[in-house]
Amino acid sequence: MQLYLSLEKKHDAILIATGVYKSREVEILGSNLKNIYPAMQFLTASNRKGLGDKVKMFDDGYLNAEGKDIVVIGGGDTAMDCVRTSIRQNAKSVKCLYRRDKKNMPGSAREVANAEEEGVDFQWLTNPKEFIGKNGKVTEVVLNKMKLGEADATGRQAPEIIQGSEIKIKADMVIKALGFDPEDIPTLFSEPTLVVSKWGTIKIDLKTMQTNLDGIFAAGDIVRGASLVVWAIKDGRDAAEAMDIYLKNKISQSLKKRMVA
Ligand SMILES: Cc1cc2nc3c(=O)[nH]c(=O)nc-3n(C[C@H](O)[C@H](O)[C@H](O)COP(=O)(O)OP(=O)(O)OC[C@H]3O[C@@H](n4cnc5c(N)ncnc54)[C@H](O)[C@@H]3O)c2cc1C
Repeated sequence: MQLYLSLEKKHDAILIATGVYKSREVEILGSNLKNIYPAMQFLTASNRKGLGDKVKMFDDGYLNAEGKDIVVIGGGDTAMDCVRTSIRQNAKSVKCLYRRDKKNMPGSAREVANAEEEGVDFQWLTNPKEFIGKNGKVTEVVLNKMKLGEADATGRQAPEIIQGSEIKIKADMVIKALGFDPEDIPTLFSEPTLVVSKWGTIKIDLKTMQTNLDGIFAAGDIVRGASLVVWAIKDGRDAAEAMDIYLKNKISQSLKKRMVA
């Protein structure tokens, strides 16, 4: 049953605010080795453990950083959560690989400073080239050193590989924190007519917060792409106001119709 048809029967307005949760992948040699995890898997296990849940993969040592050489790939807020969670789990060492320099890091500068104070070793201008393993488990990461080249269409300098610059670092666990993309919402909600951008974010009219489907609104990361809490809060408030206007208009239109009849 299509989302629009099934929910629309029961509700006068619907807001889609599902966030973005499809992890970006690192597709290099050795990506299929064990002990390479997406950030959300690692963070969720840690949170659940902190709340007192039984988390088998944590208790069995797989998703637990204690005593391990940890390599986190990425430079955003999620990467910062992973490096600092690893430190709190008593990792032996924590390295964070980011392909640009410190100045261009997308994560909060304060969190980077805090992570450095806590002992995280930031490997600026590096990109993973290959994962090496033993008995099916990752043991090392081969890195390429990078340099910043010409600015791209967005004005950001694109990172380029420095040929012959490879180095190897030890890794008992690799955490992938390269960001998130939207899931395929039209397919997921069986609503193929819902219009999305080329990145998969839902397209809305910014004045009405409405999608191309009447009465269906969208807000937050699923519209902006991975963003920040403050923007999600603002979008939520804007969407609430827009839905209020929409519903009031709907009521007054139906009253007018009844009066005419
Ligand atoms: C690990 C991590 C760290 C972050 N750190 C920061 C930070 O330090 N500072 C900052 O400003 N921002 C940070 N962000 C970004 C911030 O969390 C988001 O920008 C913000 O939460 C987006 O709000 P939202 O309401 O659009 O979506 P979300 O907060 O992601 O909420 C979406 C909700 O929809 C639910 N959902 C998804 N699909 C469905 C479905 N099919 N049916 C029903 N429910 C569904 C999800 O379970 C979730 O509860 C971080 C994000 C992550 C993942």
